[in-house]
Amino acid sequence: MRVSNMFIPTLREVPAEAEIASHKLMLRAGLMRKLASGIYSFLPMGYRVFRKVEQIVREEMDRAGAQELIMSALLPAEAYQASGRWEVFGAEMFRLKDRGGREFCLGPTHEEIFTETVKNETRSYRSLPLTLYQIQTKYRDERRPRFGVMRSREFVMKDAYSFDRDEANLDISYKKMYEAYCKIFDRCGLDYIVVDADTGAMGGSGSQEFMVKSSIGESGIAYCNACGYAANDEKAECIPENCCCGQKEACCEQLEYEKVATPNARTIEELMEFFKCDAKEFAKTLIYKADDKIVAVMVRGDRELNETKLQNTLGCIELEMADAETVKKVTGADVGFAGPVGINVDTIVDLEVAGMKNFVTGANETGFHYKNINIDRDFKATKVADIRTICEGDKCPKCGAPVKVELGIEVGHIFKLGTKYTQALNCIYLDENGKENPMVMGCYGIGINRTMAAIIEQNNDDNGIIWPMSVAPYHVIVVPVNTGDELQMELAQKIYSELMEAGVEVLLDDRNERPGVKFKDADLIGIPVRITVGKKAAEGIVEYKLRSKSEFSDMSVEEAISSAKSEVGK
Ligand code: ATP
Ligand code: MG
Repeated sequence: MRVSNMFIPTLREVPAEAEIASHKLMLRAGLMRKLASGIYSFLPMGYRVFRKVEQIVREEMDRAGAQELIMSALLPAEAYQASGRWEVFGAEMFRLKDRGGREFCLGPTHEEIFTETVKNETRSYRSLPLTLYQIQTKYRDERRPRFGVMRSREFVMKDAYSFDRDEANLDISYKKMYEAYCKIFDRCGLDYIVVDADTGAMGGSGSQEFMVKSSIGESGIAYCNACGYAANDEKAECIPENCCCGQKEACCEQLEYEKVATPNARTIEELMEFFKCDAKEFAKTLIYKADDKIVAVMVRGDRELNETKLQNTLGCIELEMADAETVKKVTGADVGFAGPVGINVDTIVDLEVAGMKNFVTGANETGFHYKNINIDRDFKATKVADIRTICEGDKCPKCGAPVKVELGIEVGHIFKLGTKYTQALNCIYLDENGKENPMVMGCYGIGINRTMAAIIEQNNDDNGIIWPMSVAPYHVIVVPVNTGDELQMELAQKIYSELMEAGVEVLLDDRNERPGVKFKDADLIGIPVRITVGKKAAEGIVEYKLRSKSEFSDMSVEEAISSAKSEVGK
């Protein structure tokens, strides 16, 4: 393709709205443009990459025996109502009505619809196992769309669903998908880690996420280099220390509690300053609204509450921190002084807090805290559970070695669903004896747009994107330095044609621009191989450079062509 004819609207300036490398670069390199919050159009260069990622996914799905189909994005409400997810999705689901008042949604994910389809067409054990997939647009009205296509409101997902006779066969289907996912992300050139994930309200017997380690990731991942354990922080189990401070013997004796006036101290930092002690010696009491119920939740002063763990413990659908007015109503005090003593709501206590002695809590009175509080003696827990987020250095739940914690981008998710949907929607098969059984299901998702953005996050430098060859929009760019020079143009044209004939995807930058501008664009767009035709054209010498390396070398035309071909694998 000749660059002079192409629609590649690159930008020199970094768009103000973009915070992370991939988002900035996708806009700057002219890969996409924003239409509205969390809604984007892919432009030609971006769409080529998008389709390559999609194609890698498709090839590996097909190779694993999954069959592609396509369903509508506009879906009737009934199946979601039958599974209960019409409510569960809450505000995240885009809902609409047709002219007759019938309810629909724009599909956020298709478990119900695949289940319905299989149910209507398949009755016999002989039809199983069956894995179906589609690569299709999903809609989710995310609370906080951000980072470009990383978390958008419209995105394309490859979603696959397996149907089996029993758990043992599900394990086989699941393993095939696991292996296909590894191949997909390997081929995309991603450095990723597979972590155990929470199965949460969806039920199911196991789930794993494919995470790309990145400082801009939104999921915490805990992993252990000693034994290989890896889990996301919603799942990673926290092993409590034996004693609140782990060292002082005296703290194991229960001391008399006392109320202390703490007029200007309400945050942990202010309290540490006031009491001259460590955050570990406090227990925070947080007030939450879980569906329609108010609960108090306690974690150690230096810990983070994990809302997913709490949600699972409570078995609630909606969970949010109570507003100041509710806090005042429940505790009788302003925010910052809540505590477990005398409070009249269920109190969920983190495992670690249950092992603490003589700690500081709010006194449910504005301006006061209690010292030397002890569980069971001074208050009762409604429930003790692991509800905090694991931290770097905590004990590995499997082997006890200190864990590492990093951030990751979830690009794929595989899930053993079991019979949750097949039972709800009555998707059954008849076994050899004519007996009815619910099919056992798995579901498997990959975000195509997010994967594309994650590839950029891991492959870029100050000058732009560095595409892995497998997903690069074009493999090679041929740059004549001076388009007015006939010899240079002729040679560039010859290289361009020969590479094209060999099946290489090649660009010819025939624009009448300064070479610096062309080099900058080629680097920004991230074409893996650049062949520059300049002053030495008369001698048949060109400059050969890889985007991923800083050095370049002079080569004969033949050598440059064959190097490019072998780089591309042609
Ligand atoms: P997250 O926790 O990031 O919201 P999720 O658990 O909701 O993800 P799944 O429902 O498992 O995601 O969807 C499967 C895949 O779809 C994810 O692994 C991710 O790659 C992609 N995905 C999910 N939500 C979005 C989104 N808002 N924008 C882009 N891709 C998304
Ligand atoms: Mg989500």
